[in-house]
Amino acid sequence: MGKRGLLGVLAALLTAALPIAAAQPAAAARKPKVVYLTFDDGPNSLNTPHLLRLLHRERVSATFFVLGQALALDPLYATQLWLAGHAVGNHTWSHQDLTFLSPLAIRDQLRSTQRLEGPAGGACMRPPYGAMNTSVRTVASELGLTPVMWTIDPQDWAHQDAAHITNHVLSLVQDRSIVLLHDGGGPRAATISAVRTLIPQLRLRGYEFRTIPACRVAPLTGNATRMIDRADPPRPKPTPPPDPGQPVAPPAVPAEMSR
Ligand SMILES: [Zn+2]
Repeated sequence: MGKRGLLGVLAALLTAALPIAAAQPAAAARKPKVVYLTFDDGPNSLNTPHLLRLLHRERVSATFFVLGQALALDPLYATQLWLAGHAVGNHTWSHQDLTFLSPLAIRDQLRSTQRLEGPAGGACMRPPYGAMNTSVRTVASELGLTPVMWTIDPQDWAHQDAAHITNHVLSLVQDRSIVLLHDGGGPRAATISAVRTLIPQLRLRGYEFRTIPACRVAPLTGNATRMIDRADPPRPKPTPPPDPGQPVAPPAVPAEMSR
């Protein structure tokens, strides 16, 4: 085909494509699909570092529902998760079924974990086993914690089989799915392997990975899959030492610290 012939074919193709191009803005304006990966029962010194490296490499943000007693072994995990662009939720202190506890004991389970999370802790909780009743709801509400359940449970703790976990999630995922996974409570090599497969598969299907909105402590800019933007989140400015000649005003308590 001569050069002129080729140009003619291209012009014809462009003309034919015009109606399609005109339809593009509506498609482009469509909101991206979102999936929320959540990890319970950690942090765990064997599993969590592997998972964090994987999520960092893939620029994926997730939500971690931590146990106070696990966090107590290394409280810096809360800050580490937050600085890495993840959200931290409260999964109680010792993973008891809260519906069997008194309101006072429920409060203690949540409050002690909240204290350890510090400012990295989001305003959300996930009751162990998903067990909720009026007492749990009331105490959670008093502590400013929104209960967050899940919509997909591949039972990764029972089926330590990466293919099973991957297939289960892919067969059920839809926009705004909340996937329940675990980084604590036992060996989680299958879970981590499944996440490694799931991330590119879900991206191929048009999903972005975000933190659960109720669990965020700082506003995210853009979407969480571009968490590179948050690699250096703003830190509070150090308070200058008071002028010894001036009366010292009591420090303002940030809203997050007063919970
Ligand atoms: Zn759990």
